Amino acid sequence: MDSPRHRAVKEVARALADRLAFYQEMGVDVWKKTPPPAIAPASIATPPSLSPVPASTPPVLSRPASNLDATFSLAAVRAELGDCRRCKLCDGRMNIVFGVGDPNAALMFVGEAPGEDEDRQGIPFVGRAGQLLTKMIVAMGRSRETVYIANIVKCRPPSNRNPQPDEIAACRPFLYQQIEAIRPKIICALGTFSAQTLLGVQAPISALRGRFHPLPQFPETIRVMPTYHPAYLLRSPGEKKKVWDDLQKIMTELSIPPHAD
Ligand code: URA
Repeated sequence: MDSPRHRAVKEVARALADRLAFYQEMGVDVWKKTPPPAIAPASIATPPSLSPVPASTPPVLSRPASNLDATFSLAAVRAELGDCRRCKLCDGRMNIVFGVGDPNAALMFVGEAPGEDEDRQGIPFVGRAGQLLTKMIVAMGRSRETVYIANIVKCRPPSNRNPQPDEIAACRPFLYQQIEAIRPKIICALGTFSAQTLLGVQAPISALRGRFHPLPQFPETIRVMPTYHPAYLLRSPGEKKKVWDDLQKIMTELSIPPHAD
């Protein structure tokens, strides 16, 4: 029988193998001696290792823990949302999916709308696409706890259809209040729907992704990086490399200490 130490070693080996498989899937050559040029030396310059982000990378995504303003503001937004009945999505929902993560996060992910798993648990991105998003966040050297994750609308549309304009109009003020409370430096818009809604444009995600756009409501302080939705990546894994490129741009940007004011 395995000793506890043997089991622990096996677990670490399995975790490293999973991580390696994920980076390879993302098109990252983890054995390269020189780091890819798009990555900031402070965050990614590593000798060949299983992770392009060393475990010792200092956390740069959060403001000091003593900043409780965002926590209180977010709680106030949640309280105002209450048992929301402002649009027809309330009829079919099990739970409002408000958002999770660090209220002081410098990086926020915004998806489209909760699916079945999210509706059941009241937590965004916990289904298959969510598991991929979680892996992407971990590949960035972060965790779900050090970023903030939310959606354009907070209730599940029936049969996972796209949210309709009246539903977005009812929910959008709460998303913007969340953004205002968190004051992220960067929002990663996941998929066409999120990118188009946040940027107020109709362009396809393929034309929007890969570069930063000012968030129209906070053009001086918040930038949006649109990228493909993880659900799309599950259907088109060949696009993962592009997403990894987009995430690296975010990582480069966040190696500058956020909210230095
Ligand atoms: N897709 C989304 O856009 N949001 C979720 O929370 C889950 C899946």
